[in-house]
Amino acid sequence: MTAQTSLSVANNLAAIRAEVPDNVTLVAVSKTRPNEDILAARAAGQLDFGENKVQEMVAKAETLPRTIRWHMIGNLQSNKVKFIAPFVTLIHSVSSSSLLQEINKQAAKNARTIDCLLQVKIAQEDSKSGFSEQDVINLIETQEFKNFRYVRIVGLMGMATHTEDINQIRLEFRSISELMQRLRAGSFAQRAEFSILSMGMTDDFGIAIEEGSNMIRIGSAIFGARH
Ligand SMILES: *Cc1c(COP(=O)(O)O)cnc(C)c1O
Repeated sequence: MTAQTSLSVANNLAAIRAEVPDNVTLVAVSKTRPNEDILAARAAGQLDFGENKVQEMVAKAETLPRTIRWHMIGNLQSNKVKFIAPFVTLIHSVSSSSLLQEINKQAAKNARTIDCLLQVKIAQEDSKSGFSEQDVINLIETQEFKNFRYVRIVGLMGMATHTEDINQIRLEFRSISELMQRLRAGSFAQRAEFSILSMGMTDDFGIAIEEGSNMIRIGSAIFGARH
């Protein structure tokens, strides 16, 4: 697809940053975008970029500046974890304990710890994956979970239903935000790193921030509509 002009990318980024409080990390979702767009955003000071496909992320990471922090935000298959394990900054889309097990294994092989978010299913749509709240609560009490030495669970991620109903979106975000608060007061009380709530995209990041998000994942509002 054709690249945006670097001026429009810089302007779009500035407009979003102006709307977003300082404690909220902006992840620029660069899936399907050419390297030029990413370089334009990087030149405008953007450090965090999100991709949803392993191959695309690896190809970009190999050619783009090493200072970029890569976030995996899409469904991740266990057999592909090894390709991103050497460099990924944060995996937002952990939705099963078997995936976590594989991430732990590949992180160990690379002699590093990989930060992960547990994806919680808050949307009504079947197409969106993630743990239920009860799954999360059950998982973190298992001995297997407690034994993972090379993954660090730093928070939760959620996606609201794609709907015009702002109230529904708000209630879905609120439910994951409340789960976050409960875990921070409970099982993760001694773990200060458990602090990231990744929620909000182009169409709903304002509501997400009002409901407690501190990491938003924005694609179209930075790079234009995807085709
Ligand atoms: C594509 C994508 C985004 C960004 O979507 P926009 O509407 O373009 O901002 C955010 N999160 C996930 C998981 C995505 O797949």
